[in-house]
Amino acid sequence: MRETNGLVCAHHHLYSTLARGMPAPPRTPTSFIEVLQQVWWRLDDALDLDLIHWSAALGAAEALLAGTTAVIDHHESPSAIEGSLDAVTTACDMVGIRCIPSYGVTDRWAAGGITSRVDPTTPMTEGARRGLAENERFLASGRRAMVGVHASFTCGDETLAAAADLAARYGTGVHIHVAEGPDDAHAHVRLAPLARPDWLLVHAVHLVSNLPGTIVHNPRSNMNNAVGYARPAARQNRVVLGTDGIGADMLDEARLAYARHREDDLSATPETAWSWLSNGEDLVPEVRNDRVVWNYDHLESPWHLAFTPGVRPLEVWVDGTQLIAEGRPLHFDLEEVRAKSAEAATRLHARL
Ligand SMILES: [Zn+2]
Repeated sequence: MRETNGLVCAHHHLYSTLARGMPAPPRTPTSFIEVLQQVWWRLDDALDLDLIHWSAALGAAEALLAGTTAVIDHHESPSAIEGSLDAVTTACDMVGIRCIPSYGVTDRWAAGGITSRVDPTTPMTEGARRGLAENERFLASGRRAMVGVHASFTCGDETLAAAADLAARYGTGVHIHVAEGPDDAHAHVRLAPLARPDWLLVHAVHLVSNLPGTIVHNPRSNMNNAVGYARPAARQNRVVLGTDGIGADMLDEARLAYARHREDDLSATPETAWSWLSNGEDLVPEVRNDRVVWNYDHLESPWHLAFTPGVRPLEVWVDGTQLIAEGRPLHFDLEEVRAKSAEAATRLHARL
């Protein structure tokens, strides 16, 4: 079998595509929280709408070229909140992939500075209010989206409750990082009264109690941040795969998910990791209208895929429209996207 449906990346940060090659942080981070403080929270604060657009365009192009036709995106840009979800989705529209965006609300930009842990009694900050408004503005436009929350440890209870309420009012779920690092192991205490089955619980590496929702496993990101192995096979929840912003090559992510599973349990088989990949279709059923023709014959066999590098799409069709032929895009200029993204990256890195 050479054909599949379109693949789904269930957790992406398209804004982080231009991070590659960014200047080294001022100090070498020694914990997950320091990685957030010194790398990601400096990067997202430096973004403007033009940088967001070209970062998302390159990330979307790379997704499509890997056979990924749907991305569930989690966006943050505290210096450019209003309109940021349009900057992401217009880039995805230009490339032709499906995008379900969310703006990651947080109270960490409190009074004049950045706080890595927010007291639960903190009243909603101006930044969180604007982030919620951006989620609501986009949801009110009628396009599918989720309500983003960075993580419970950077939000006060008022903000968490408001995000949960907004999502419920629009009939969608909350897309939130949960227990990625050991510091957030007790996220369930504050989230249990709010979480619903349509929530996306990202990482759940250290979560010590169950929450309703779908767990997004991001094996490469977990390794890169040295936060440990999430053991998703032990969870009762539906499990899907994401990349946490490190591209959107989902066959490669599934291959790595298998290797991590096997490292932890010699009896593991690749069928489990491939079931996590195909579970993405439950979240974005429209990808069943998309078709990918691959340069390889054994797409039905996880055992073949787990041990075969270099499996690439030759053709990609989204909703009946062919977007990739002979491995090349038909509807956008890949060289232009690369050149504009490189210019944007130079501008972004100079700010850092
Ligand atoms: Zn993430």
